[in-house]
Amino acid sequence: MSTTMRRLGIITLTNSAAVVTPSLLSSTAAFPGTLTLPSPLRNHRLSNSIRFHKSKSLSFSCFSSSSSAAYLPSLEEYPSTKGSVVRDDNQKVVLKGMTYATLQEWVQSHGFRPGQALMLWKRLYKDNIWANDVDELEGLNKDLKRMISEHAEFGALTLKDIRSASDGTRKILFTLDDGLVIETVVIPCDRGRTTVCVSSQVGCAMNCQFCYTGRMGLKRNLTTAEIVEQAVYARRLLSHEVGSITNVVFMGMGEPFHNIDNVIKAANIMVDENGLHFSPRKVTVSTSGLVPQLKRFLRESNCALAVSLNATTDEVRNWIMPINRKYKLSLLLETLREGLSSRHKYKVLFEYVMLAGVNDSMDDARRLVELVQGIPCKINLIQFNPHSGSQFIQTEEDKMIKFRNVLAEGGCTVLMRFSRGNDQMAACGQLGMIGAVQAPVMRVPEQFRTALKASV
Ligand code: SF4
Repeated sequence: MSTTMRRLGIITLTNSAAVVTPSLLSSTAAFPGTLTLPSPLRNHRLSNSIRFHKSKSLSFSCFSSSSSAAYLPSLEEYPSTKGSVVRDDNQKVVLKGMTYATLQEWVQSHGFRPGQALMLWKRLYKDNIWANDVDELEGLNKDLKRMISEHAEFGALTLKDIRSASDGTRKILFTLDDGLVIETVVIPCDRGRTTVCVSSQVGCAMNCQFCYTGRMGLKRNLTTAEIVEQAVYARRLLSHEVGSITNVVFMGMGEPFHNIDNVIKAANIMVDENGLHFSPRKVTVSTSGLVPQLKRFLRESNCALAVSLNATTDEVRNWIMPINRKYKLSLLLETLREGLSSRHKYKVLFEYVMLAGVNDSMDDARRLVELVQGIPCKINLIQFNPHSGSQFIQTEEDKMIKFRNVLAEGGCTVLMRFSRGNDQMAACGQLGMIGAVQAPVMRVPEQFRTALKASV
């Protein structure tokens, strides 16, 4: 392994079992053994200051009951391993965990001018610099640079691997300071739009039955810096290959609203016009339906909202999305109806993963039209992405089109999304690594058993 690659934390898979994961094992395409470094990386020195924490054991399960009948996702607050601004090991601040206002205060508290904070901010997030080391802070006063090397750290993530799917989708794996791994997906689109899909947690507590990440359970929340840096790294690593990264979706590992403080803060950093400058309309936060946090998001953020709906009855949603046992469909939809009534030109995106024989009947389509009445929305029909151990299969394309037509005839704006990145387990609902402890499989309602059996 070259020195540069070791410094970057990149591990090739040639003759190595070190990074063989369940997701890799279940991929259908062979992973290219040698990773070619993007040219910007060959020219940049990245920080090698990340250390591994050995003291904290974070692999706990949030599932207190093995009885699926009694199961509800745990909605307790889960801390990040460390504060999003100050690291608890050496009291250094993590630059990418700060909003611009906080960074300015911090810079001033060390005797420097606010203008110097702006210069630092721009080097972190703008002008194709995306600085990850003090040596990359060109043009900054040397006293400020010295202060930064003494009191701050740049990064929270170590690049582990990049995998390319045959359709151009890239899955980036990052190692966190505590050794856990998260996944970020970059999805190029031929209409000049490239989206980065960021994770907000390691694993997820929500246990949606069609989702691979849900099988992992929740390990921990990501810090603000760990979320922001995924977008920064995506631009830094891949912009020269895939063009400008224009959109962010919080649809990677985790339920963003279960980590809402860090998610709102990260989204604010991403839309700052002196920094990454994503349009708020192009930063979409997706939820499985945590109603109190959804209300807070609508109050506090101007970013876009997506709600993962996936069923038209409580019976089916209770099964495939256990969060519905706490916040029923009617409550979720009424909250949106009320919350969006005062917002101008704001539409929620409903995501609807189509599962053969479960939620894809024409009755479902007609019910869906009724359910979303009075809610400014678009509906995204998503082709289910199979993964190992999954009991569901994809709805046929023909049936998806018929379903779409019923929605369109009912006056809905409908989009259809077919699988991207499937051959590298980079598609929607395929992220993560399942460990020994797994979330419980929910009891299948009687009337769907035959359909599932026939499907498997
Ligand atoms: S679909 Fe989203 S909320 Fe549901 S288990 Fe997967 S990551 Fe969590």
